[in-house]
Amino acid sequence: MSQSRSRIAIIGGGPGGYEAALVAAQLGADVTIIEESGLGGSCVLTDCVPSKTLIATASLMAAMEGTSDLGIRFDHEPGEPGGFGRQPGQRGAAWGSLARAHAPRIYSHARADAPQIYSRIRDLARAQSADVAKRLAAEGVRVISGRGRLARRGVVAVGDTEIQADTVLVAAGAHPRVLPTAVPDGERLLTCRQLYDLTELPSELVVVGSGVTGAEFACALQALGSQVTLVSSRQHVLPNEDADAAMVVEDVGQRRGMSVLGRSRAVSASRTADGVEVCLEDGRTVRGSHCLLTVGMVPSTEGIGLAESGVGLDARGFIAVDRVSRTSTPGIYAAGDCTGVWMLASVAAMQGRIAMWHALGEAVQPLRLRHVAATIFTEPEIATVGVSQQDVDTGVVGARVVKLPLATNARAKMDGFGDGFVKLFTRRNTGIVLGGVIVAPRASELILGVSLAVEQQLTVDEIAHTFAVYPSLSGSVTEAARRLMQPAEPL
Ligand SMILES: Cc1cc2nc3c(=O)[nH]c(=O)nc-3n(C[C@H](O)[C@H](O)[C@H](O)COP(=O)(O)OP(=O)(O)OC[C@H]3O[C@@H](n4cnc5c(N)ncnc54)[C@H](O)[C@@H]3O)c2cc1C
Repeated sequence: MSQSRSRIAIIGGGPGGYEAALVAAQLGADVTIIEESGLGGSCVLTDCVPSKTLIATASLMAAMEGTSDLGIRFDHEPGEPGGFGRQPGQRGAAWGSLARAHAPRIYSHARADAPQIYSRIRDLARAQSADVAKRLAAEGVRVISGRGRLARRGVVAVGDTEIQADTVLVAAGAHPRVLPTAVPDGERLLTCRQLYDLTELPSELVVVGSGVTGAEFACALQALGSQVTLVSSRQHVLPNEDADAAMVVEDVGQRRGMSVLGRSRAVSASRTADGVEVCLEDGRTVRGSHCLLTVGMVPSTEGIGLAESGVGLDARGFIAVDRVSRTSTPGIYAAGDCTGVWMLASVAAMQGRIAMWHALGEAVQPLRLRHVAATIFTEPEIATVGVSQQDVDTGVVGARVVKLPLATNARAKMDGFGDGFVKLFTRRNTGIVLGGVIVAPRASELILGVSLAVEQQLTVDEIAHTFAVYPSLSGSVTEAARRLMQPAEPL
């Protein structure tokens, strides 16, 4: 007896949706994705990919700050095409030495070319979206443009079109939260999605919110030449992250000229004749040319028939799911930012894949958040995996901790930086690696070794016996493991 193909309808073409579609297609299902903005989702078109592309340019600019210490000089003749010049009052990365006594050599600087940066970001996002579309087409996934909604049991509607489905996955994502007293206008008052539509770099940027998004943009724009004021309602930036790591980012930012206003809650933001004004709870005001509002994300779960279909939402509108992405309604799964589980592309994608494996009867491992590797793309980057310092400090986990500053790492010295560290958490007695924090340039690439150790339950002995290249930053990971091999102090 031949079995008919399972029909899957997916609302949302971001990582939660398209990764699920690929798994379902691989398993032989008949798959339809409904997407209203563009394949790749907000991740590719407005959020993760554009911001990391901006940060790629910013990181290079930041790296140039230290080039004179490394013995690099850039000299340009006055008026030489392509020479770098600083506009009066504009900040820039110093590339050169003081003008040589024998004119006409001049003091030269790198300057961000905003139109080129923004157009590269838009082109790259479009290209990435096209790659996703090509891959889905190659796997035979049907794509419908439009706004999908749950019409009735087993039916998703897009306008007048109805799609019959045995299983529905909702992967509708989230969008920036807007405060009624700080409504973005796309010109001076901006959400993180509107930044790339500007024609110039904000000269004086006030960033409201010091969570991951706020801190990333503050570091990037500062490196590109904006004068940044970061308004944080908490004492320090990145209040939910490893406190040691957050302090490094805050210190580096301030050293580079960023102004961080701690314990300063913004209550409103508005336009002035030539810029913006942000009012703080304590009566102070902060002025700038532009204001970037990063005050959280809200799920895109309204008006798509969720409540009518019996899908349970939490108080903030996120879809409640279990660890295999099931909602409260049989046959309806949800993945990604609309579930609020952990707003990362990798988590969205894994939730989507798990949903399909489960729905299509494959063996499936429930989502394990303890093993998620994540990075905050600040200057320097903060990469984390596994248990946190807070878990250890509050006694949730009993662990030994070692923190090695990178200032003593030979490769870091050669590369000309000293801010950052490697921290490892290991289980007492067994020495099994439970987690780690790496603060360094490209920490996002370095964390894999620790992530592998956490996933595979490796011990510090096993890491300590692993060869690391000399000189390398990863040498600090094996060195940290060696430090933890020493017998624990008596209790
Ligand atoms: C500034 C910023 C930077 C980030 N950087 C990173 C990073 O470096 N690394 C990382 O892992 N994560 C990052 N994230 C988070 C990451 O972007 C999200 O976790 C990821 O996009 C979630 O994927 P998703 O599929 O759930 O939703 P999305 O990517 O938001 O996709 C949802 C899609 O659903 C569509 N949609 C919604 N409703 C409907 C409907 N009714 N019908 C049809 N289509 C619909 C939307 O148009 C959208 O395209 C960042 C987020 C922001 C805001």
